[in-house]
Amino acid sequence: MRIVALAGGIGGARFLRGLKDVVGPDDEITVIGNTGDDIHLFGLKVCPDLDTVMYTLGGGIHEEQGWGRAEESFAVKDELAAYGVGPAWFGLGDKDFATHIVRTQMLGAGYPLSAVTEALCHRWQPGVRLLPMTDDRVETHVRITDGAGTRAVHFQEYWVRLHAALDAEAIIPVGADTAKPAPGVLEAIAAADVILFPPSNPVVSIGSILTVPGIREALAAAPAPVVGLSPIIGGAPVRGMADKVLAAVGVAAAADAVALHYGGRGAGTPGLLDGWLVDEADAAAVPAVEAAGIACRAVPLLMSDPAATAAMARAALALAEQVRR
Ligand code: GDP
Ligand code: CA
Repeated sequence: MRIVALAGGIGGARFLRGLKDVVGPDDEITVIGNTGDDIHLFGLKVCPDLDTVMYTLGGGIHEEQGWGRAEESFAVKDELAAYGVGPAWFGLGDKDFATHIVRTQMLGAGYPLSAVTEALCHRWQPGVRLLPMTDDRVETHVRITDGAGTRAVHFQEYWVRLHAALDAEAIIPVGADTAKPAPGVLEAIAAADVILFPPSNPVVSIGSILTVPGIREALAAAPAPVVGLSPIIGGAPVRGMADKVLAAVGVAAAADAVALHYGGRGAGTPGLLDGWLVDEADAAAVPAVEAAGIACRAVPLLMSDPAATAAMARAALALAEQVRR
């Protein structure tokens, strides 16, 4: 079976680990990773979400933190700070720096990001085919207003430095309008037997992937069933500040509201989902989702351990079979 999953960072990566646990040796997983979070720091190209997927599936992730390398040290960061060179708010460890150096060197030599990602994965062997959503530069910016007025800041500045404490007034995917899907992305979607939206951020992870022209259209036209899992449980994100960016696009932080935001793929509607999983705590949301033409089930959706995560992946694949046309 050919499975395609769209993925952001932590939520996507952890779900993918569960998915890998339940598929068979003949199944292939292609991951379309978000690159809207990418940022240039210290002259280096940093791809936080691609790296989170690569490290998590490759066994190098800092487990508790969910991002960055295990057993990391911060000598380079400290030395940069001693020179007064920032930003200090983005935590890059020494081991992680090596990844960004290799990536930047290869990009400088002319390789596209997709080829660079493949080369990095050669070391990490994540067990999935990891494709960036695009080889072109796309950067999510967030419009905020503070004492200094209204301005747009890079998503990482909003998320990491400001901890999303200010309201996000708009989400701007800079560069997306002229970006092209990376090689293999549209082909993988068209050839998929199942398409999954892990419980990644619907706005700045999955949403960013959907801003690349052609990807949304390919998903809408794909013969495979599309099933998503809610990142919102009981009216709040399980982790992080997704409610802040959902508000920016006028969507409530609720499991059913996120499903309706993606939309149903039923006849005559331009939406994306055939199926949607909500947590058992949100069982009351099921009828509203089904009314939009999206098959919906309430199952445990907390990725508390590998067994629970694997059960979520199994439930998503089972729902995909039920909605297969
Ligand atoms: P990021 O790029 O690192 O922010 O990661 P993603 O976009 O892939 O995933 C972030 C989302 O994962 C957040 O909105 C969380 O609510 C969601 N999430 C994290 N842990 C869990 C979990 O155990 N269960 C569910 N359902 N969602 C989760
Ligand atoms: Ca991210």
